[in-house]
Amino acid sequence: MPELPDVETFRRYLESTVLRKKVKGVDVKSLQILDGVSADKLCEKLVSKEFLGARRYGKYLFANVEDEFWLVFHFGMTGSLKYFKEMEDEPEHDRFLITFENGFHLAFDCQRKFGRIAVTPKVEDYIKKKRLGADALEVDFKSFKRLLESRRGSAKSTLMNQQVIAGVGNIYSDEILYQSGIHPKTKMNTLSEDNLKSIFSNMKRILKIAIEHRANPDELPGTYLIPNRSEGAKCPKCSGEVKTLKMNGRTAYFCPSCQKQ
Ligand SMILES: [Zn+2]
Repeated sequence: MPELPDVETFRRYLESTVLRKKVKGVDVKSLQILDGVSADKLCEKLVSKEFLGARRYGKYLFANVEDEFWLVFHFGMTGSLKYFKEMEDEPEHDRFLITFENGFHLAFDCQRKFGRIAVTPKVEDYIKKKRLGADALEVDFKSFKRLLESRRGSAKSTLMNQQVIAGVGNIYSDEILYQSGIHPKTKMNTLSEDNLKSIFSNMKRILKIAIEHRANPDELPGTYLIPNRSEGAKCPKCSGEVKTLKMNGRTAYFCPSCQKQ
């Protein structure tokens, strides 16, 4: 599932491909992915326009359309972007296709259809409407501490709560807690200031390193938990067995020796 590093990678991809290219046509192939806008309205708004830039907030990507409005992408479980020329290169689960006057296309590929496309006049309006918390890459320690320290939920579910910290999901919350030596079920409000500092600095470092590696798990350092997310894998720190547990319907990976409860 795309998290902050994936979405930041999509943002850079979008900026390196579609800027200042005139939209010729829009094909909504799956109406289900539209959120609060009709296919006709979206076509009308986009055709003959150009993208001027892109912003990311949490797991959302915003593409600026001629300073008039923003096209919003949320990647759900399986979403991604592909810019290509020949239609034979169209991704298999294309849900939304923009064709540019230069003959290239941008596809929003999303196998499981949990991804969403929306429009908003201002990025800040959308962040408010979705009640998103502080962006994980932008938040400072003072705000981070204020947002987290009194939370009664588990450390993992709090980090994953987009209305507290936006951008961290199942995979990166596991990595952050692993590198901080904190069990995923530990209650947030029982953690010390040093624990919070450790979570904060690990979160920043891990997200930045993941972005540098374009969120490709195979390119992350071998000391990370992410490349070792499999049944029976060995903890890169202590060589003990990596374990899983179910939390809020998601599977958490952790090392019971390095992350004691
Ligand atoms: Zn371990």
